[in-house]
Parts: sequence; C-alpha cells; structure tokens
Amino acid sequence: MTSGTTEVDVIIIGAGSAGLSAAKELTNQGLNYTIVEGSHRIGGRAYSEEIAPDVWFDLGCSYLHSAEHNPFVAIADDLGVVLGKEYGNFFDGDQQRFYHNRVQLNDADAAACREYFEQCNKAIDNAAKRGEDIAVSDTLDLDSPYAKTFMAHLAELCGGDIDELSTVDLERWVGGSDYPVLNGFGNLIAKWGGDVSVSLNTKVESIDWSAAGVRVETNKGTLTGRAVLITVSTGVLAANHIKFKPGLPDWKSDAIHGLPQGTESKIAVHFNEDVFGPDGRGYHHTWTDDDEGSSFEASLMGQNVAIINTGGRFGIWLEKQGQQAGHDFALEQIANVFGNDIRQSASRSIVTAWYTDPWTLGSYSHALPGQAHQREVLARSIDDQVFFAGEATHIDFGCAIHGAYLSGIRAAQEIKAMLK
Ligand SMILES: Cc1cc2nc3c(=O)[nH]c(=O)nc-3n(C[C@H](O)[C@H](O)[C@H](O)COP(=O)(O)OP(=O)(O)OC[C@H]3O[C@@H](n4cnc5c(N)ncnc54)[C@H](O)[C@@H]3O)c2cc1C
Repeated sequence: MTSGTTEVDVIIIGAGSAGLSAAKELTNQGLNYTIVEGSHRIGGRAYSEEIAPDVWFDLGCSYLHSAEHNPFVAIADDLGVVLGKEYGNFFDGDQQRFYHNRVQLNDADAAACREYFEQCNKAIDNAAKRGEDIAVSDTLDLDSPYAKTFMAHLAELCGGDIDELSTVDLERWVGGSDYPVLNGFGNLIAKWGGDVSVSLNTKVESIDWSAAGVRVETNKGTLTGRAVLITVSTGVLAANHIKFKPGLPDWKSDAIHGLPQGTESKIAVHFNEDVFGPDGRGYHHTWTDDDEGSSFEASLMGQNVAIINTGGRFGIWLEKQGQQAGHDFALEQIANVFGNDIRQSASRSIVTAWYTDPWTLGSYSHALPGQAHQREVLARSIDDQVFFAGEATHIDFGCAIHGAYLSGIRAAQEIKAMLK
C-alpha cells in the first residue's frame, strides 16, 4: 500500500464492483490510484461459496438482471465465463407457482394470483408516472387473499417492506432477462477484478478533506491523494464507520439516510439426491396462514439445491435468530411445497447475514418514500475532492451490481475531468 508521503491522484475506498470498475477506468484515463479494501477479499457483495463439489451458491448477487442492458454479459463472454442464458425467463409470471397452506393453487387461483401481482405492479407504476413518490403500501389492495405472498416477494426483491419503498424508485427498474452464472457471479467478479492491485485488510477510519487534497487514515497508515472516491454502502456511511473531517454537509447526509440498505437474506439448502423431481424445477411462492411466507428457486440449473429468499423486517428478524433458525425456516418452506420427506436428504445449508455484515450493513439500497431523487444527490461530489460511487448512486440500476459498475466508471470520468 502506498502510505504517508506518496500522493496519488485518487484513493478508492472499497473493492466491490464500483471500486474495481473505477480503478480500471482511471487506468484507462492515465491516472494513478490506490484502492483499499477493508475485508480480506475483493468483490464486496458479489461472493460465491461451493456448497457441494462443483455446486456454487452466490451469497450476494446471482443474476445479471436487465441482461439486454447489462455490461457484465459482455465481460463474462470475454472471460469465457458461462452464463445460464437459457434460464433467463425463470422469473416470468407464467413460470411461477404458488402454494398456500402446503397446497398448490389450482389453475384458476394461480391465474388470479398472477393477475393480482400484475395489478400491484401497475398501481405502483401508475403512481410513479403521476409523479407521486409515495409508499408502495399506499397503492395496493391489501384485502386480496394474495397480498401476503406479494408483500413477501417484494420484500425479498427490494429488501424493504411496502411502507418503506418508494413508488418512483421501483418504477425506474429496467426489466429484461435475468441470467444466472453457472459457476458463481462472485467468482466472475473475482476473475474480472483479479488484475486490479488492491490493498486488502485495509480499513478506512477517517477522511480529512479540510484542505486541498485528501488525507485518508487507515488501520495500516495514512494515505494522501488529490481526490477520494467512496464506494462503501449507504449502511456503512449511515453508521458513521468512516469519520469525515469536516463532517459531511446536510444535503449529503440526507441522501445517505434517504437510501438505506434493505435486507435480502438467502438460505441455500443442498440435498444429497434429487428431491424436486423433473417437474419441481422452478420458482415457488409459499405461504401459510401462520407464517410470513417466502419465495424460492428449486434446482434452477438442474442441481439439487433450493435457495430460499426472505427480506425486509422479517428477513432481519430471521437473521438475528441465527444460522440454525435460518436453516429450519428454509427446510420448512421447501417441505411446504415438496413434502416432509425432503428433510432427510438435506446435506448442507448456507445462511447469509448481510444485515449484520460490518462491511455492508445490509444487502442493497432502496429509496424511502419521497426520496427517490436522492440517488442523483448521493452521486454528486463535494468540493471536487470527495467523490461517490456504488450501487446506491445509480438511478436506473440502483441496488444492482451493474449499476455499481457503471457508477464507478461515471465517477472516474468525473475525477479525470476535475483533475484536468
Ligand atoms: C443477497 C443479495 C442478493 C443480490 N442479488 C443481486 C442480483 O441478483 N443481481 C444484481 O445485479 N445485484 C444483486 N445484489 C446487489 C449487488 O450485489 C450489489 O449492488 C453490488 O455488489 C454492490 O457493489 P458496490 O461496489 O456498490 O458495493 P460493495 O460490493 O459493497 O463494495 C464496497 C466495498 O467496500 C468495502 N468497505 C466497507 N467499509 C470499508 C472501509 N471502512 N474501509 C475499506 N473498505 C470498506 C466493503 O468490504 C466492500 O467490499 C444482491 C445483493 C445481495 C446482498
């Protein structure tokens, strides 16, 4: 790590997708930088673990969403990384199945449930198009028998509950195909970012921008630069894990707090045999009169794995109960669809804990009602010294990894223009 006396053009904080794309773009622009990462690895919220031999589970991002607009499609192709392009319509409405009180909805009820999901999405979009940046909960018919499963689904997609989500922020999402990565999205990011020289285990403690240039204090010493680029999550910023001297202006703090980190929790369960059967592969929504419900992917790419998703306040509560509670909940959800016999074949599970992970303090950002404009504000630099990137700063792809990637390039180009 460059420390003390050597001044670089840019100090980049965080080696997730945004920090890594910024580093590559700065190199293209002929600028030098130091990139520091607090944890022991690059990738941030892109991280894969092998749950069984040759079966990879992505604890963070797993899909190249909006694939037709996603720069990681070309990156994966260039690196020879196999994408599950044939599974890109996995989430389409007609692919989804619904189970209430352990019984699959019949065709008529499933059609009514899909219709309700459509109506909800339209109500959110219509409010946003009228310019009403209000809570999603204010737009929905919550008396529907399908409201519970829709709410659980939205909480795991967006990380927040319906009263916490902004209509305008949701409406901006650009749809399209969703490609999984056969051997792990986290592994793809580690491969793509592997040529960037990162100082790992280097935690930034404070940033002094009181004079020209910046002084960044880390657990390994002081760095000086002409500008600093911050890519840590809004959760880390809101928790004041990095101290600013002088403090951040109010408009920037408001943007950080208007875009909190939501929580999506995932629990992967591997089975030592095919418990799903040839027709079981798919995306299932399950809820009972007594539980919160969840949605889960069964055997997406033909493997003996189910991935259960929860989110919002329930996801946080479940994470706080610990690993065993997460495992038990996941098995219960799978058993609700495939029957109790599956329990004997469960060989291993991995339970995520993003809400308490000190390097993220949540899964990804969502705008609070009335705060959708804050993504643009969060992206603005302060006094041509302190620059911001990361998923929360992207307007159309906020919360997604390709939004983080694009934001890193945007910030690097802004810094280049400023230093010129
Ligand atoms: C459960 C889950 C599912 C998801 N699913 C998808 C998906 O399917 N598709 C999709 O597109 N996106 C998905 N996402 C979102 C996606 O993973 C993120 O948007 C993206 O990875 C964020 O990249 P980033 O560079 O903005 O932030 P990060 O990846 O968080 O990078 C910031 C880095 O800063 C480091 N850091 C923090 N504090 C300090 C400090 N004080 N000093 C030094 N370093 C520090 C962190 O360790 C981290 O490595 C998912 C995320 C989660 C958690």
